[in-house]
Amino acid sequence: MAITSLFLLAAAGLSDPLACDSLPTARFAFGGPLGERIERDVGAWLLPAPTANPGMLEMLRTRDRKPEPQLVPWAGEFAGKYLTSAVLALRMTREPDLERCVARFVDDLISTQAEDGYLGPFPARDRLLGNWDLWGHYHVMLGLLLWHERTGSRPVLDACIRAADLICRTYLDGSRRVFDAGSHEMNMAVIHVLGALYRKTSNERYLRLLREIERDWERAGDYLRAGMAGVDFYKTPRPRWESLHDLQGLVELYRITGDSRYRAAFVNLWRSIAALDVHNTGGFSSGEQAVGHPYSPEPIETCCTIAWMALSVDMLRLTLDAAAADALELSTLNAMAGAQHPSGRWWTYNTPMDGVREASAHSIAFQARAGTPELNCCSVNGPRGLGMLAEWAVMADREGLVINFFGPMKADVALQDGTGVVIEEATEYPAGSGEVVIAVRPERPAKFALKLRKPGWDPAARFTHSAELTSRDIAGYRVIEGEWKGRREVRIALDMKLRAAAGERRLRGRASLFRGPILLAYDQRWNAFDEDSIPQLDLRTLVGARMQLLPGESGVLAPWMKAGVRGVDGRELVLCDFASAGAAGTRYRTWLPAVNFERPQLVLLRPRSGEAVPAAGILFRWEADAAAEDRIEIVSAGRPERPLVARGTGAGRFFLAGPLEPGDMEWRVIRPGGESTAMQRFIVDAALPPRLEPPPDPPPAPGPRADGVLIEAPLRGSAEPRYGRLVDSAGVEASADGAVLDGERGRIRFTLRAFPARDYAVVARVRVRAFPQGRIAQVASAWTGPMDDPLRIVVEGGKVSARIEARAAYATPPVPVEAGKWFHVAAVKTGNKLTLFVDGEARASADVPEEVDSEARSVGVGGNPNFGGNEFLAATIADFAVYARALSGEEVHRLAERR
Ligand SMILES: [Zn+2]
Repeated sequence: MAITSLFLLAAAGLSDPLACDSLPTARFAFGGPLGERIERDVGAWLLPAPTANPGMLEMLRTRDRKPEPQLVPWAGEFAGKYLTSAVLALRMTREPDLERCVARFVDDLISTQAEDGYLGPFPARDRLLGNWDLWGHYHVMLGLLLWHERTGSRPVLDACIRAADLICRTYLDGSRRVFDAGSHEMNMAVIHVLGALYRKTSNERYLRLLREIERDWERAGDYLRAGMAGVDFYKTPRPRWESLHDLQGLVELYRITGDSRYRAAFVNLWRSIAALDVHNTGGFSSGEQAVGHPYSPEPIETCCTIAWMALSVDMLRLTLDAAAADALELSTLNAMAGAQHPSGRWWTYNTPMDGVREASAHSIAFQARAGTPELNCCSVNGPRGLGMLAEWAVMADREGLVINFFGPMKADVALQDGTGVVIEEATEYPAGSGEVVIAVRPERPAKFALKLRKPGWDPAARFTHSAELTSRDIAGYRVIEGEWKGRREVRIALDMKLRAAAGERRLRGRASLFRGPILLAYDQRWNAFDEDSIPQLDLRTLVGARMQLLPGESGVLAPWMKAGVRGVDGRELVLCDFASAGAAGTRYRTWLPAVNFERPQLVLLRPRSGEAVPAAGILFRWEADAAAEDRIEIVSAGRPERPLVARGTGAGRFFLAGPLEPGDMEWRVIRPGGESTAMQRFIVDAALPPRLEPPPDPPPAPGPRADGVLIEAPLRGSAEPRYGRLVDSAGVEASADGAVLDGERGRIRFTLRAFPARDYAVVARVRVRAFPQGRIAQVASAWTGPMDDPLRIVVEGGKVSARIEARAAYATPPVPVEAGKWFHVAAVKTGNKLTLFVDGEARASADVPEEVDSEARSVGVGGNPNFGGNEFLAATIADFAVYARALSGEEVHRLAERR
């Protein structure tokens, strides 16, 4: 569908190739519990915030006063994030005072602008040069542009332009580039607002700066090239959350140039995050970044989820892909509503899947200063999560209107020709039976198409409408069209039966339950037992069941819904909606112990649904047991009867050299027994560079041997291990003493099925020929990405240490060793202790995380297995081994003795 709309737009000669767009002049009124949350957000936070925290603007006025204010590097964002939140809220609140409050705030804000256009809180000598000052300007300019869009105020647009011109004078006219400002994913995000400002002003300087930042990306997040190559977002060089605002810059570049490479890169990165890094709550990030799976217990920051939602609004605009609207619904009703206290008084920094709700004003209190007691990145940003409803609830495309949101709501919108249309939804959704009645009232008879989202969790949603209208289906939407006049009704019946999601990794054996879009949670408040004795749930009886909702409570802290389910032991477990869970300060859990999981046996991995791939050289991957002779079918969309390719293949992978015609395609995998996956859509995009040969896929490694050995490689005479799987060796000379590594590219790599999480050990015998100068070198390393190396033994400046990189870096104190002399080294992790043994003696230790959740699947000896930089060690290495358990001091001693 997305492609069809693009062609339509191209055919119509429109320069802005979006599939649909928000309606900035629309007025919304939301009812039900979400409507109450919006009103409390306005009354209890957005209205009082500027007067309760006057430093929000005062910090800009006092930027050159003494003593120099000590600010966090991102302090410049507070005013902008607040403004964006407040302008969006104006589209949906009944509170008349907010308009005056924001107008005064904007006047005050632009009155702080310096002569040269500077709009930040840092002293004159630092202007834009460091901190996260460009990032701060990004947010302030974004807020000002939204206010300008609402009011048409010329002085506000001029303030924005003056700031952009200062950015150009600083980072375009001379030799300095935005890259030089440091904090790359943050400061480079200014590309997003510069793109929007270019579309508004056509000032070529802004476009030139966009191009410079695009070039700078190649030395930082490398978003365009990584996205085009289908690299998962968490594997890109800058997987922190701020990068998502850079990705919004890809959408700007696409809107400006029409170059489909930007679109393909954006779509692929969005899909990667959606598939791998969004939690059951709809929250994004683990410890402020993507990690490749949603099961980590690391904090889920409010700002990160907001960035994900902003990205999803862009995805929806770009593609009209209902999956983006599903993602927004999930985030809004769970993660965002859960990040807000029901009183509206505060927002969280972290809204965990299991845990408690803490106000950001105490959990990240270090961001507060005199005059800004409640300010932090999340408190000013949080309301934007609700405010974005105004951007996605109802949208417009070339054919008419698009309704993405279900819930009690009234929206006053306009068709492209200006005809006003009132849309009213009467429903208890997401509580109640799942019936939604939508009344559509145009101010005069009008012909248009109304697209209604079909939630991905209920593909069988039923739609009924009056006989004067006709309907058809497109991917993700029911289209109802014809002449609309008077009051016409559409009824939707959604199936609210229980669904389950299975946990993996540390959450294996646990499940999350959903009713419609609502994630359910155990809360201490509604149960007499604590979280350590939650009864096990039988998924075979629960999934598909219709839950009887318990009578509603009343009051501000009342849950949106509450229901009881029976545990395997017969005890009742009372569950409530995630948004209300923990509101009283009680502990809650969404990952519940469960039995009888239905694990899908056959899962398609790549291309993902909707992924853009090159015309030639497409790698298809699916989860399969290696022995199965699966059949793969690749067909042109809509013509499944004529497969282009259908052939048997094992190992869950198939490389199609191609070429395929550009356009929509589908694929599926069929088991020899006949079991098959559903057809999955992908897009062949000729703009993407072809892949010439299949990427190497290491053969599967064996699991641990009975004695816990994962890899055992004496390295005497050959790199081939006694146990484990060799990937390759380069720059290595075999000798009877051990592997002689040249120190320039010498490295032996082994593959692992998975790295152990809690206890493990690495041992080796080493003779260093020459210590590296001004860099580190690896005896062994399992590095797989930024801050992910579950164990490395590092030589630096004549000393050896054991280290772990797991979101943060941990290292034992270094121990001196001698060049030219053999020593035995062992790094042993036991729970939260990492011990370094040299020559059989425990010499140093460090406190480390009890469990390390790593993506590592390979180990390098003599160098980093995956990093391109120079970490090679000039040494002879022998008796290398990796254990999936801790070794005792006794065992290490024996290994050191044995030659
Ligand atoms: Zn934050």
